[in-house]
Amino acid sequence: MRAPVKLFRKIFPTLLCTIPSTSLYLTFDDGPSQFTTEAILELLKQFDIRATFFVLGVNVRRYPALLERIAKHQHTIGNHSYMHTSFLFKQKSLVTEEIESTNRLIENIVGYKPKYFRPPYGHITISLLQMVRSLGMETVLWSFDPKDYKRTPKTLTKIKLHKIKKGDIILCHDNLSQQVALPLVRTIIDYANQNSLQFLPL
Ligand SMILES: [Zn+2]
Repeated sequence: MRAPVKLFRKIFPTLLCTIPSTSLYLTFDDGPSQFTTEAILELLKQFDIRATFFVLGVNVRRYPALLERIAKHQHTIGNHSYMHTSFLFKQKSLVTEEIESTNRLIENIVGYKPKYFRPPYGHITISLLQMVRSLGMETVLWSFDPKDYKRTPKTLTKIKLHKIKKGDIILCHDNLSQQVALPLVRTIIDYANQNSLQFLPL
C-alpha cells in the first residue's frame, strides 16, 4: 500500500496522508454508531479536542441525530461512502452515486457538503481520485494506523505510539466497542499531551 500511495501522490499532490503542520489529526471512520460515537464525543469534549469523522451514508440514515451531535461539537465531517464496499473494479456511475448520495444525506442534516472523502479500505485508483476532485472534494488517507479494529483492551498497550509524528493523520474507528475505542483515544491524547502535540480537525 505504501509504495502506490507515494506514486499516486506524485500525480495528486493534494492526496492527504500527512499535513505539513505541527499538530495531529484524529479521524474516526465507519460511524456514526449507536454504541460508541456519543462516548467519543464526550471524551473529546473533556479535552477540548476537535477531530474529523468520516461517516457512512447508511449509518447517517440510521442515526441522523448522532451526525447532528458531531456537527454541534464542531468536528469536521467527511464522506466515507454509503455502504463501505471497496470501489476497486466498480462502475463509475455506482461510485459517484455512493459518494453523492452520502453528501446529500450529510448536507440535509448539517447544512453543508463535506469537503473530504476517505475511500473504504483506503483503496484508491487514478480514476477515483479524479472523480473525487471533479466533485470538488479532496481524498484523505492516513499516516498512522493503530489497527484499532484488531485490538482487544489487552493489546492496546502494544501500539507503537512513539511512531506518531507531527502532521500525522491518525486512523481510528467510532464503531468499535467502547472498551477498545475509548482507552485507545485516551492513550493517544495522553501521548500527545506528554509530547506537547495539539490536535486539529481537517
Ligand atoms: Zn472504513
